[in-house]
Amino acid sequence: MIIKAFWARLTVAVLLPVSLVTLTLTPIVVSHLEERVDGTRRSAEALLASEYDLLLRGMNESFNQVLATAEYPLLRRFLSRQDAAETPTWGLAAQSDWEQLEALFDTLLTHFGRYTRLAVVDTEGREWVATSTVPLLPRPPVVDHGTSTAFLQAMALQARDLYVSSPHLGASGAEQTPVTTVIDIATPIVGDQGERLGVLLFTLDWSRLTASLPHARESRGEALLAGAQGRWLLPDTDGQEARFGQPVATHWPAAWSAMSDRNQGTVTLENHLLAFRSHDLRTQHYRSQAGTIISDPGTQPWRLGILMLRPTLWGLLKENPVQPLAIALVYLLSVAFGLFWVLSNHRLRGLRQRALLFSREARQYANEVQDLYEHAPCGYHSLDSDGRVIKINRTELEWLGYRADEVIEKRRYRDFVTPETRAAFDAAFRQVLGEGQEGSAECELQCRDGTRLPVAIQATAQVTDDGFQYSRAMVFDLSERKALEERLERQALADPLTGLGNRRALEDQAAMEIARAERSGAPLSLIAVDLDHFKRINDTYGHDVGDMVLQAFAKLARQVLRDGDVLCRMGGEEFAVLLPDTHREQALQVAERLREAVATTPAQVGQDATEDGTLAYTASLGVTLVCAGETTLKPAIKRADQGLYAAKETGRNRVEWEEA
Ligand code: GH3
Ligand code: MG
Ligand code: MG
Repeated sequence: MIIKAFWARLTVAVLLPVSLVTLTLTPIVVSHLEERVDGTRRSAEALLASEYDLLLRGMNESFNQVLATAEYPLLRRFLSRQDAAETPTWGLAAQSDWEQLEALFDTLLTHFGRYTRLAVVDTEGREWVATSTVPLLPRPPVVDHGTSTAFLQAMALQARDLYVSSPHLGASGAEQTPVTTVIDIATPIVGDQGERLGVLLFTLDWSRLTASLPHARESRGEALLAGAQGRWLLPDTDGQEARFGQPVATHWPAAWSAMSDRNQGTVTLENHLLAFRSHDLRTQHYRSQAGTIISDPGTQPWRLGILMLRPTLWGLLKENPVQPLAIALVYLLSVAFGLFWVLSNHRLRGLRQRALLFSREARQYANEVQDLYEHAPCGYHSLDSDGRVIKINRTELEWLGYRADEVIEKRRYRDFVTPETRAAFDAAFRQVLGEGQEGSAECELQCRDGTRLPVAIQATAQVTDDGFQYSRAMVFDLSERKALEERLERQALADPLTGLGNRRALEDQAAMEIARAERSGAPLSLIAVDLDHFKRINDTYGHDVGDMVLQAFAKLARQVLRDGDVLCRMGGEEFAVLLPDTHREQALQVAERLREAVATTPAQVGQDATEDGTLAYTASLGVTLVCAGETTLKPAIKRADQGLYAAKETGRNRVEWEEA
C-alpha cells in the first residue's frame, strides 16, 4: 500500500512538472511560431511584389524597345524602299541601310542581352534583317515568316500595338531546333503615311527575364508562373526535371487550386505559404507606351506565385540548437525537482512516522512511569530546600489523607511527621541538604484521620552546578513490619497453650513494675502456683486432659485476678502472678481466693475423659513480697517457690507465705 502510494507520487512528480513546463512553454513556442509564420508570409508577399515588379519592368522595357525600334526612320526607309521596288532591292543604298540596321540590332543584342533574335520582316513575310545570339542560324533573306503567328498577328495590328506570344521553345533556325524558352514580341512597322511596311519581331530570352525568380532549390522560396490554363511557364533550369508546359496542378495541386480561384492573396498550404497574384499582359500596362497588346488566345492572364516553406516547430528547434537544449534542460530540472521533492518527502514522511511512533512510545512510557510514580507501593515526594513539598505521589497522599492541591507548595513535609519522630526527620533532611546529599530516617506520619503511620524515609539531593535543587525521597510504609515485629515479640513472650505470658514476659513486665514500684514506693507481691499431682492427672487421663486442665486453670485464674495483675506460665504446671500495688495481706487474700476457686471449680475435660466431663484438681501457692532494692524478680521467685514447697510439704492445696 505504502509502496503503491510512493509510485503514484513518483509518477505525479514526473507528470506534473512536465505538464506545467509544457503548459508554460506551449503559448511561448506557439506565439513564436506564429510570429515566424507571419514573418514568412510577409517575406513571401514582399518577394512576390518585388519579383512581379522586376518581371514586369523587364517586359515593359522590351515592349518599349520594340516600339522605339519600330519607329526608327532608317528602318522605315529601308522597308519602304523594298516595298516600292515590289521585289527585294539590294542596291548600294539598301546595303548601307542594311548594314546600319544590322549594326543597330547587334548593339541591341549585345547591350541588352535579353534577346535571342531580332528580325525585320516585310509585308510579304520575308525577313530582311536579322541578328541572333545563336551564330549558327542562317543569314537572311532565307526565313519566310508568311505563316508564323507573330507575323500574322502583328500585320493585323495598328502602329504602337504589340503582339506578345506565350513563352515557348524557340530561337529557331532552319530546322526550327529549340534552343531556349523565348517570347516573341512583334509590332507592325508603319510608314509616315500610315502605310504598312512590315513587322518588327523581337525574340526575348525568357529564361534571362525570369532568372531572378527564385527556384525550388533556393531556401527563400520557389516561384510559380502559370498561364491561364495552368501550364508551367517558367523555363526549366539545368538539373531540374522538365516541367515547362506541363500543368502546374501536377506538382502543386493545392497551390494551383488557390491561385486559379482568386486574382491575388496569400494562403497557407500544408507545408508552405503561398503569395500569389495574376497579371494580364493585355490590360495591365506598366509604364509602357504600347497601345493595344494582344497575345495568344487562352494564355492570359498569367499567375505568379511565391511558395515558401511554412516554419515548423521542428524547424525552429533545429534552427538554434541552444533552444532545444534549454527546453530539455528545463524539463530535466523540473522533473529532477519533482523527483527530489517526492523522495525527500518520502524520507521525511518515514521520519515523521518514526518520530510519531517514538513519541507515542515515549508518551506511553512516560504515562507508565507516571503511573508507577503515582501508584507505587511506596511514597514518593520531592521537597525544596525549605522542606516544602513540591511533588508527592498519590500513594503517599492516600496514606496522609490529603489532596495534592492541599499539600503541594503549601505544606512543609515535617508538619506531617509526629512531634516524637520529627527530630529524626529533621536530622535526616539536614544530611540531605549537607555534603552527604542523602539521608534516611524512620519516623511516624500524622495522618488526617488521626492515625499514625510508621515509615522509613530515604532521601537524596538533586544537585546541579547551581547547587541544591530539590530532594527526592522514597517513603516505605513500616506498619506491616512493625505489626509483624510486635506479633513476633508477642509470640516470643506468650505461652501458646494457655495464651498467658511466659517466663520472659513475666521478667519484662516485672522490670517495669519493679521500676514503677520503686518510683511510687507501692508494694509488689508475687505468687507462685503449682498444680498438685499433675503427673498423676497426665498419667491417669492422658496428656491432652492435662493440657485442658492447664487451660482451665489459666482461664479461671484470669477471672479471679485483677486486670493489673500479671499472670504467667513459668513452665509445666507452674504459674506465677505479679501483683502490683499489693501488700502482703492482700496478696495472701488473692492467693487464697485463687486456691479456693481452683479447688471448687473442676476443669471441663469432656465426657470422654471423665464421667461427668469435669475433673477436680488443686493447686499449692507460695506468696512473697518483692523487696525494695531488688532489681530483678529472681530472688522473689525463689522465695515464692520456697513458700510453694512449704505448701506442698504441708499437704498441698494450701497457701504459704515466705518472708523475705
Ligand atoms: P506435686 O504435687 O509434688 O507437684 O506432684 P506433681 O506430679 O505435680 O509434680 P511433678 O513435678 O513430678 O510433675 C509435673 C508433671 O507435670 C510432669 C509433667 O509430665 C507434667 N507436665 C509438665 N508440663 C505439662 C504440660 O504442658 N502438659 C501436661 N499435660 N503435663 C505437663
Ligand atoms: Mg511442678
Ligand atoms: Mg505439681
